Amino acid sequence: LKERVQISDQQDEMTELSLMFNELMDSLEQSFRQQQQFIEDASHELKTPLSIIHGHLSMIKRWGKDDPEVLNRSIQLSLNETNRLIQMVSELLILTRANHSAAIAEYAPENIRVKQVIGEIIENFKFVNPEFRMLTRLEISDDCVLPVQKNHFQQMMIIILDNAMKYTRDQKEIRVSAAMETGLLAISVMDYGMGIPEDELYLVTNRFYRVDKARSRKHGGNGLGLAIAKRLMEGYAGELQIDSVYGEWTKVTLRFPYKNEPAAGSGKEV
Ligand code: ADP
Repeated sequence: LKERVQISDQQDEMTELSLMFNELMDSLEQSFRQQQQFIEDASHELKTPLSIIHGHLSMIKRWGKDDPEVLNRSIQLSLNETNRLIQMVSELLILTRANHSAAIAEYAPENIRVKQVIGEIIENFKFVNPEFRMLTRLEISDDCVLPVQKNHFQQMMIIILDNAMKYTRDQKEIRVSAAMETGLLAISVMDYGMGIPEDELYLVTNRFYRVDKARSRKHGGNGLGLAIAKRLMEGYAGELQIDSVYGEWTKVTLRFPYKNEPAAGSGKEV
């Protein structure tokens, strides 16, 4: 640690104040560095779609008038990149907000019915993937309730279910379950898909991290979803755990602190 104010050997108030001042400055400097890194990462990621759009606009300018094929293709690809930009910017906003209000005191939890909320999300997914509902198995009891802000829970479940849908193998079922563990309620989503290499498991919750950039790009992923979910879970003093066997399965678990445990037993399905 950098010593900003010299600390004397004496054990007096001045020494204590100097220590506090140095610690405060260190944490300020650290959060400033994190902010800078955030801006740097975001600018870098935003630059890619912008460069692609720029390239297509140049093509349209040069050849678009004479070649309708170039015109149509470049317009479509520019539209795709614009959608990606819109999604990235809205995810960045969510992530920044989650960082700011990362304290449960600022949340307004309500008792949500877990099965019902997940059911609604799955129902809405049919517009993206009509088969998704058929492939999803819900192992949650009707009376499972969780004190959480509904939009936060929806946000996290959409991210995790969307990943399960994107990275699963065709026609493989996706299992969503809830279980009581000591003092915790664990909600898991398991898919039997491409999985995540073991040495990258701890990285996938970093913002913008994608296991395979090409693979994620094809699926439209920006690498922000799990970073958002992790931040939100920290606000609930809970945790997000990812287990996977590469090439076989992935299980994402959200663990919420839970006071009204029906029985002290662990692993009880609820
Ligand atoms: P993205 O929007 O790219 O999916 P996420 O932050 O949600 O971003 O996920 C980060 C990366 O973790 C993904 O790009 C993907 O490589 C990997 N990943 C996430 N969920 C799964 C899953 N269920 N199966 C396999 N890989 C996954």
